[in-house]
Amino acid sequence: MAEPAPSRPILFGETHDSLSTRLAEAGEPAFRARQILDWVYKKRVADANAMSNLPARLRAWLGETYDLAPARLVLTKTSSDVTDKLLLELHDGALIETVVIRAPMLGVGSERSRKTICISTQVGCAYGCRFCASGLAGWKRDLAAGEIVAQLLAVCRLEDPRTERAREELASFDNIVVMGMGEPLANYDNLLRALTIVNADWGLHFGARRITISTSGLAPQIHQLAAEPLGFRLAVSLHGATDEVRAQIMPINRKYPLAELLPAVRAFSDKHGRMITLEFILIAGVNDAFEQARALAAIARDLHAHVNLIPYNTVEGLPWRRPDEARQDAFADILHRAGVSATLRREKGHDIAAACGQLRLQTETARADAKARQITQSVGAKGEGH
Ligand code: SAH
Ligand code: SF4
Repeated sequence: MAEPAPSRPILFGETHDSLSTRLAEAGEPAFRARQILDWVYKKRVADANAMSNLPARLRAWLGETYDLAPARLVLTKTSSDVTDKLLLELHDGALIETVVIRAPMLGVGSERSRKTICISTQVGCAYGCRFCASGLAGWKRDLAAGEIVAQLLAVCRLEDPRTERAREELASFDNIVVMGMGEPLANYDNLLRALTIVNADWGLHFGARRITISTSGLAPQIHQLAAEPLGFRLAVSLHGATDEVRAQIMPINRKYPLAELLPAVRAFSDKHGRMITLEFILIAGVNDAFEQARALAAIARDLHAHVNLIPYNTVEGLPWRRPDEARQDAFADILHRAGVSATLRREKGHDIAAACGQLRLQTETARADAKARQITQSVGAKGEGH
């Protein structure tokens, strides 16, 4: 199905330079770009009419030229005391998820509760990892840079009771993880543009070191990312410590086997001098053998990487299960005894992946069911008419 193109560009996809250029074309002075960006990213106001230091003419131009509301909040779901999920609807009806996690995460031993925002980069995913809800329905489209940025603004607006104090505290999320729906490095240019906007002093002014990009292992793009000036953090979804096991659950491993992936990861950590994270979902009977733990320990030691063990979260319609707790602990012990830094996150609400694509899948399934019921009803109604 061809997606309708957005009628207007999204304001949140503009950089300071690109916005200045458009303003110049419209005969506006360059300093207006900074004023507009201040409204959007510092005051968090996206309604052109509220931008009171802009002339009425320019406010009207903004509203006519740009899409200022590219993501409509359709559902907020609090699945536990620590996790909020936002379901956002885009201009073409596509649904994406953004997740807010209030918990000690990714930083071990932190006493303060940290707030992490998990963003999506694509509608669906083309990589078809066997265990993942996002891959189930395939890839629909890439998100535009402005749609990626809009997710963060949606979170800010959600929590902004519109008081000055709250506005000051708005940027109070501690981490951004690009671990929602989609494969971020398969939408490289839009992702980088979005993160540039997030990082810029005229944008959200959010440090690159507090942004983690998770990839299923696109080796060439990992090399490309290593060469970027901004030092993002990298997480790699390993989920199998040998080609044999990994290829069973991650088709990408056939394209980029470990012999290609691991050197790319090494190049990244050498360049940025920072520990990368290896994500390892534990799936009973698939990758939880002790030989896997030992092979994983060797890889992690070699890369000087941190290992994040995540007991698998059941996805409706998929047969996979997490191993029992004794097995999880024994697996983690092997890593610890090999001197590897590893965390095992068992609490359901705490791990981001619990949200990965699942809310969207449920809503799309419910919509499809409703549509099917409608069709059945109208067929029934026709039938009765005969
Ligand atoms: N495409 C990227 C980022 C999105 S997935 C990637 O694959 O890394 C974010 C993380 O959630 C990945 O580590 C992914 O393997 C994991 N994940 C997906 N489904 C999961 C599930 N049901 N339970 C636990 N983790 C899951
Ligand atoms: Fe796509 Fe990541 Fe899910 Fe694999 S785990 S299907 S790459 S979102």
